[in-house]
Amino acid sequence: MNAEKLAARYRRILASVKRRAADAGRAEGDVLLLPVSKTVDVDAVRVLYDLGVRDFGENREPELARKRSALPDDIRWHFIGRLQSNKIRKVVRLAAVIHSVDSEDLLLRIDRIAGEEGRTPEVLLEVSVAGEEQKGGVAPAELPALAERAARCSNLRFAGLMTMAPLDAEEERQRGIFAELAALRDAAEARTGMKLPVLSMGMTRDYPAAIACGATLVRIGTAIFAED
Ligand SMILES: *Cc1c(COP(=O)(O)O)cnc(C)c1O
Repeated sequence: MNAEKLAARYRRILASVKRRAADAGRAEGDVLLLPVSKTVDVDAVRVLYDLGVRDFGENREPELARKRSALPDDIRWHFIGRLQSNKIRKVVRLAAVIHSVDSEDLLLRIDRIAGEEGRTPEVLLEVSVAGEEQKGGVAPAELPALAERAARCSNLRFAGLMTMAPLDAEEERQRGIFAELAALRDAAEARTGMKLPVLSMGMTRDYPAAIACGATLVRIGTAIFAED
């Protein structure tokens, strides 16, 4: 895709995100559009960077490392994929935000390694609201204990929750899932006494429902980057 077309795509999606946020009674700038650049190369990221975009999402460590070394240092990289234990140190060095923490073991390893590396990543706990076993995420019933543990970590900033709705979910089901994540966030705030401002939910197919239910960050790849 040429640069002009990509820029136009990005602007169109950004306008749509803002309009939907306004429709939901949210303040302008309340919902961050996170372009997920996993399927494109650095030149496409650079086009959006030149428009002022500073947050990008990647789901694999080698790709994140490659792009990060080729692009300006003021990009905030969001790691949104499954995080294997042997990649934690690398991801802690590369990413400002880790969206996909779904076990106490992973959480505590990130906290320890972040301390060793002198870094303080922002961390989101991924919740499997829909209960799809093959995907990541803690069960809602396990979230309170994990959230309490995250609140006590000193080398990371526990900032909120993340989820994915099933690919085949209809809009009503999407809304049920996203509304439940918002309720789980409220409960986790009450339990930990912490402000948990980030709700990372919504992708190309379901971001309108996510914004209506309180998303503060939508992760969008296809709608911005895919050829049509
Ligand atoms: C790829 C990916 C996205 C973006 O999905 P699209 O449907 O292309 O917008 C969002 N979140 C995660 C975790 C992803 O892996």
